[in-house]
Amino acid sequence: MTKEQHKKADNTKNSENGSILDFSPLPDSIIDALESREKHRCFKKEGKQSTPDCNKSSIPGAVTQRSCVYGGARVVLMPITDAVHLVHGPIGCAAYTWDIRGSLSSSSKLYKTGFSTNLQEKDIVFGGETKLMDVLLEINRIYHPPAIFVYATCVVGIIGDDLKKVCELAQKKTSTRIIPVQSEGFRSFNKSLGHQLAGDALLDYVIGSSHETTLNHPFTLNIVGEFNVAGDLWGIKPLLEKMGIHVLSTLTGDSRVEEIARSHQAHLNIVQCQKSSNYIARQMEKKYDIPYLKVNFFGIDDTASSLRDIARFFNDHGMLKKTEQLIKEEINKVEDAIKPYHDALKGKKVAVYVGGNKAWSLIRAFEELEMEVIMTGTQNGLPEDYQKIRDTVKEGTLIVDDSPVMELYHLLKKYKPDLVISGAKEKYMALKMGIPFCEFNHDRITSFSGFRGYINFAKNLDQAVSSPVWNYTEKKLKNGRINQFNEVKNAKI
Ligand code: SF4
Repeated sequence: MTKEQHKKADNTKNSENGSILDFSPLPDSIIDALESREKHRCFKKEGKQSTPDCNKSSIPGAVTQRSCVYGGARVVLMPITDAVHLVHGPIGCAAYTWDIRGSLSSSSKLYKTGFSTNLQEKDIVFGGETKLMDVLLEINRIYHPPAIFVYATCVVGIIGDDLKKVCELAQKKTSTRIIPVQSEGFRSFNKSLGHQLAGDALLDYVIGSSHETTLNHPFTLNIVGEFNVAGDLWGIKPLLEKMGIHVLSTLTGDSRVEEIARSHQAHLNIVQCQKSSNYIARQMEKKYDIPYLKVNFFGIDDTASSLRDIARFFNDHGMLKKTEQLIKEEINKVEDAIKPYHDALKGKKVAVYVGGNKAWSLIRAFEELEMEVIMTGTQNGLPEDYQKIRDTVKEGTLIVDDSPVMELYHLLKKYKPDLVISGAKEKYMALKMGIPFCEFNHDRITSFSGFRGYINFAKNLDQAVSSPVWNYTEKKLKNGRINQFNEVKNAKI
């Protein structure tokens, strides 16, 4: 038997046993064209390892959707609202990431202004340090910001500009924090290194740099790894305040530099995005002896258990009582509000392709609506991310790593989800295939965090699935999907 015949025989046998194994083999065109991608996809299956190969360089020609190290650093730091974010490099790096996160601000809007040294051919030949210094002095003269983050891009790494030295000199001249972020895009195939470099920039230059004493409050914490996308923070912070907790700072959503500078005085760090921000929490524990808790404010149960964990940490009788009361009241409101959406969504099949922690932290949120996650995956998952995914998803779920766009197309076509949850890069592919889509990445415009966010979440899913637009599509396949991809369906990728 050939390898392909063996595979088909295995699947037939599995199908007869009635487990996942109802899933048919992956499309031949993907397997034929990119055999090296096979180990990056797997099904969760009892007794098997059930995690895909990951954290590897993407295959040339596979058109990965990944970002670069600089992009990874930028998304962590950009939500600091009153800082200047200066991109030292050609204009494309700045344009590509300008406003990359839909992070909202309750005060300063300075972070929304794009700054670049716009390096040109002459700068590449003779070096960009003089230009960088001129730009830093000019920015400081016009804006007087509390901090300027200076991001190194690929070309800066290649020509060897001494970013650290220029920032040091500029800091002396301006007396403001000028912070080098050594985020040259090529430093790793995994943008997670960028998250870590952003964390280092905060740890080395901002956290602990203010010795002004904060108010004498017995219960203070920092929310780490919450970026206030679409106002998510504003669904979490009021809950903590009702419990009697003072939020000292958020790293980094809706934050100000001086708040982060004082964040080392908190009693506790809670970590929402464990993909990007575990590193900062671990380092703050080492350096400032601040313990941390991993939390998840997506979904009813996870929000409730996160609040309980925080109350248990402070172990204050009054807080424990207030927390239980708060959870009870909020859950009553949510359950009433989501009822109509729940009825419409129950039983729908979902494909999730999102950033690291969301690939597992969203699973419970779908289960609470009795939706079935049939596929989940991420672009830059690490082995520990996939272990968490494996531990969370049901038997038979397809798990994928760094799927190129055409591979995703073939997977969606084969497994026919009723809904895709992903980001802007996958949005139009799903819609053109006639599959309802819900944005869950940076471009989201609705808050999904906390109890109130969960009502928005259910409403958004229902709007996507029940949209009348699906009644007005002309070309329908037998299964109700539109096939806009006939011209590419046999493409080799
Ligand atoms: S830093 Fe490098 S990889 Fe990233 S956008 Fe700029 S040129 Fe591209």
